[in-house]
Amino acid sequence: MSVVSAMSYDPEAPLVDPFGRGISYLRVSVTDRCDFRCVYCMSENMTFLPKQDLLTLEELDRLCSAFVRRGVRKLRITGGEPLVRRDIMTLFRSLSRHLESGALEELTLTTNGSQLVRHAADLAACGVKRINVSLDTLDPARFRELTRWGDLDKVIAGIDAAQAAGLAVKINAVALKGVNEDEVERLIEWSHGRGMDITFIEVMPLGDIEPDRFDQYWPLSQLRARLLDRYTLEESDYRTGGPARYVRVRETGGRIGFITPLTHNFCESCNRVRVTCTGTLYMCLGQEDAADLRAPLRASESDEKLDRAIEGAIARKPKGHDFVIDRTTSRPAVGRHMSVTGG
Ligand code: SAM
Ligand code: SF4
Repeated sequence: MSVVSAMSYDPEAPLVDPFGRGISYLRVSVTDRCDFRCVYCMSENMTFLPKQDLLTLEELDRLCSAFVRRGVRKLRITGGEPLVRRDIMTLFRSLSRHLESGALEELTLTTNGSQLVRHAADLAACGVKRINVSLDTLDPARFRELTRWGDLDKVIAGIDAAQAAGLAVKINAVALKGVNEDEVERLIEWSHGRGMDITFIEVMPLGDIEPDRFDQYWPLSQLRARLLDRYTLEESDYRTGGPARYVRVRETGGRIGFITPLTHNFCESCNRVRVTCTGTLYMCLGQEDAADLRAPLRASESDEKLDRAIEGAIARKPKGHDFVIDRTTSRPAVGRHMSVTGG
């Protein structure tokens, strides 16, 4: 008898990794497809997974629910672009029962905003309160260049619809050297003027793409230093359960978040794991180790096999990632694109 099967099984036991970090945050990628091709995220010609490899919406619900039962309090739906997955609202509707029961604190979404006009009101009706919208530029031509396929007007209309539906919107912008460097202050003032926080993200070395990473990488320490020329940044202990560190801008009253996987290692407080749309569990965004949850999910109607696979994986959660971008290391740290694990 294996050690795992000999161990007693407690379907309610909280998930804690070997470093004592409780797993309370699950990010679920519901599709690897997207209606954009952002230059730092995807190559122009992506090969997407065959649809039959994807977990069904029912399987995604079962998987998320297993994590909620084991103590996950925050669930973020992402992708690819989550809102291009057919019937995705069915998943939100079914997951909202965990909000109603109080088992789940927050159900949320990261989106490129292109489909928000259609879905904002339904998301709000499902109990979604806050969403992240990725937007790296307010210049329509630059937006098209960066996303290759995107239409800025549609995204802005989506943000309008989200705010009209009562959703709190946070803007996520990837800081890209020589691309949106000159727009940082405009992005901040535009976001804060609309009552939205904005978080800057350092570009991470995930997946092969055409541009050179080193050319794109702009350390947020430099961005932050520049902001001091114009703004008074007040340290803030505001946290959203994610890796961003926030400051408040005295002049605008709004918040700026910084996600700095490269200049500041945030692994010590990592409370999250990620599942791909095929049911592969990644214990760390920056490491290759993963566990297949689709097979145990499909192996039986009971969740015991699934729970055991989750427990076994969490027991291997690594201490941290080892991202580096420098002139000698422009290869990806891991081969998969951000659109696979969902950022
Ligand atoms: N399509 C949705 C969107 O764009 O918000 C959700 C998925 S996207 C992969 C999630 C986030 O990852 C976005 O904010 C995107 O800008 C960011 N992202 C993608 N590739 C990245 C990379 N290589 N480094 C840093 N952030 C990246
Ligand atoms: Fe699509 Fe989001 Fe990746 Fe852009 S960042 S290509 S919107 S998944």
